[in-house]
Amino acid sequence: MKDAAIPSDGPSDQFVTLLAIRPHPDDESTATGGMLAHYSACQVRTGVVICTGGEEGEINDPDLDPVADKPRLREIREQEVRDACDILGVAELRMLGYRDSGMLDTPANQHTEAFMNVDIIEATGRLVRIIRELRPRVIVTEPPGGIYPHPDHVMCYEVTAKAFEAAGDAQVFPEAGPPWQVSKLYAVAQIDDGAWESLLPQFHAAGYDMSWLERRPDRSQGPSAESATVSLDVRPYSEQTRRALLAHRTQVPKDSFLVSLPPDLRQDAFATAYFNRLSPPSAPGEHEPGLLEGLS
Ligand SMILES: [Zn+2]
Repeated sequence: MKDAAIPSDGPSDQFVTLLAIRPHPDDESTATGGMLAHYSACQVRTGVVICTGGEEGEINDPDLDPVADKPRLREIREQEVRDACDILGVAELRMLGYRDSGMLDTPANQHTEAFMNVDIIEATGRLVRIIRELRPRVIVTEPPGGIYPHPDHVMCYEVTAKAFEAAGDAQVFPEAGPPWQVSKLYAVAQIDDGAWESLLPQFHAAGYDMSWLERRPDRSQGPSAESATVSLDVRPYSEQTRRALLAHRTQVPKDSFLVSLPPDLRQDAFATAYFNRLSPPSAPGEHEPGLLEGLS
């Protein structure tokens, strides 16, 4: 693939401070969009790696034909993620180049080139090459098991965890460039902080059917906001994130809950992004003000 040819000792203007490693085009904008916009606004150079082409996604763009344009979906979604990264101020985007595995227990899982079926050592080597090229201080990825049980989200964590360890070890993947030790590894955290429940009157007033939320079992069963290592206020980047999501025209219809809320309500509904530090492992109750805390 093209990116593999880039020398790992490239010019320093390729280096990034923070690298988000995400399974599909659009995952950079959903769980990490506000975070990327925040650090870009703070003049921190950010990068994104997308593991798969997203070929198994739907085509919701009314200007496209869901059948005739399906063979081009990988190409279409690569352009969408490029546009989204431009909106979020991301400096470097790399495609890892694997095939979307599809949702769990669907026929796409059987594809030999699906990300879930590839040799994990080969995939780790590919990611190590990118890490050594971009030299991030901090990596953000999926939590163990994925933020939801999609095979590519699960695999994204597995490959990132291995590459995080391997990138700094000169003995492994010597052909992938000089070793580079990343300082910290974080996972996005799926936390219900109660914000949506408290906003139910506003959602109803804006005409949204929230019965799916009201039917959910007791939210106190999930991890609390207090359990996250980093709680980032991403309210200032609400509109930027919304535009990045809308760049994914095939995936995010204009009337989607994600992008159609009135601006004030959207800010409050998506106010905080949560992250847990995996390496070095956070102590119970440990909190950091940001993902770059403690870096010299
Ligand atoms: Zn995804």
